[in-house]
Amino acid sequence: MAEQHKCIIIGSGPAGYTAAIYAARANMKPVMFTGIQPGGQLMTTTEVENFPGYPKGITGPEMMEELKEQAERFGTEIRYELINKVDFSGEVHKIWTETNEEIHAHSIIISTGADAKWLGLESENRLKNNGVSACAVCDGFFFRGQDVAVVGAGDTAAEEATYLAKLCKTVHLFVRRDEMRASKIMQDRVLNTPNLIVYWNTETDEILGEEFVEGVRIRNNKTGEKTEIPIGGFFVAIGHKPNTDIFKGALEMDSAGYLVTEGKSSRTDIGGVFASGDAQDNIYRQAVTAAGTGCMAALDAERYLATKGLH
Ligand code: NDP
Repeated sequence: MAEQHKCIIIGSGPAGYTAAIYAARANMKPVMFTGIQPGGQLMTTTEVENFPGYPKGITGPEMMEELKEQAERFGTEIRYELINKVDFSGEVHKIWTETNEEIHAHSIIISTGADAKWLGLESENRLKNNGVSACAVCDGFFFRGQDVAVVGAGDTAAEEATYLAKLCKTVHLFVRRDEMRASKIMQDRVLNTPNLIVYWNTETDEILGEEFVEGVRIRNNKTGEKTEIPIGGFFVAIGHKPNTDIFKGALEMDSAGYLVTEGKSSRTDIGGVFASGDAQDNIYRQAVTAAGTGCMAALDAERYLATKGLH
């Protein structure tokens, strides 16, 4: 007999934990499956300065630890497992863990988040973890005092570049257009950091080095001019892809894989399945908006269970 639950939460970022806090306080006895990166993307973020209630800022990992404590305080069961298959075709929803355990639930809250995108260069793939990284906070320490490069032009790239500038000798930032997408305050920080050099209209041709990153060849996409720069670390910060592959064919999603929700709700196209956080948000993608949609998903799930006479 498969285990049967009222509410299962898949994913453990700010959306998942907030859904857990609300669902647990509503006595839905939620069970959360954390996935491979418990805490989600915020575990690889430095200072979070824009989450209301933390006037002095807080680190991503600290915030996630506090959210986890809060979710557990009201009785959320947290399982450090990955869900790799779902079947939402019946009245009761079915999911499978990586050890092929089948679990049933009346309501499912999806908060699987998003992951970093890569450039797709052969050299990038070959040198991953040998100088190529998508997380300055995780790996910046290894390049103290060295020259490094960052590619990207959004808030993530700006944040990673300024973070690395505190540790490294010089940071080369490659921006493919003649402007950055990052918020004004982050751009100002980039432009006012003395050891951070911005290269406009610049694309990465190849990362150089056999076993470890030794340099990068860049190309100016206006003039075609190529330049080689010696570096020890190459950080990719070009955005994210939603972690929704396991829901392909089971739930409606857009062309980029973001789950589609109905109007001002967290309802997917399948009754009893709700989507929150970055898995369904390609616009705002903030910790606080993810948390807000996690709250919505728990409230929507509670209403769904009540309508069905299951809660
Ligand atoms: P974004 O999608 O905002 O930006 C991605 C950037 O990468 C764009 O500037 C894009 O260039 C560039 N890019 C994409 N593909 C390539 C490529 N192949 N080669 C070179 N450059 C490429 O992603 P972010 O991760 O930066 O931010 C996501 C969201 O998270 C945003 O809403 C952001 O505001 C938020 N955020 C907030 C933070 C904070 O408040 N502290 C910190 C980090 C993120 P182009 O502009 O030309 O398309």
